[in-house]
Amino acid sequence: MIPLMRTCKEVTALVIAREDQTLPLLEQLALRLHMAICAACPKFERQVLTMRNAMQQWRNYQNEDEVSDQKPSGSTSRS
Ligand SMILES: [Zn+2]
Repeated sequence: MIPLMRTCKEVTALVIAREDQTLPLLEQLALRLHMAICAACPKFERQVLTMRNAMQQWRNYQNEDEVSDQKPSGSTSRS
């Protein structure tokens, strides 16, 4: 009846798929609709986003051998 209804299982799959590809507009809409009515999936989405941010920070860290303007917290060496 309603083409935009998705199950939690489908939505979690979409959230993960969205990480490496742009979803069709219809799927994005279905995702948003489900997020609005579901309690569990927004939490899952937040976890995925948090994990993605952590991965990006880790990758940036891996790419930067030189110290950026962020202070290294664990440095004990004094000169
Ligand atoms: Zn759900």
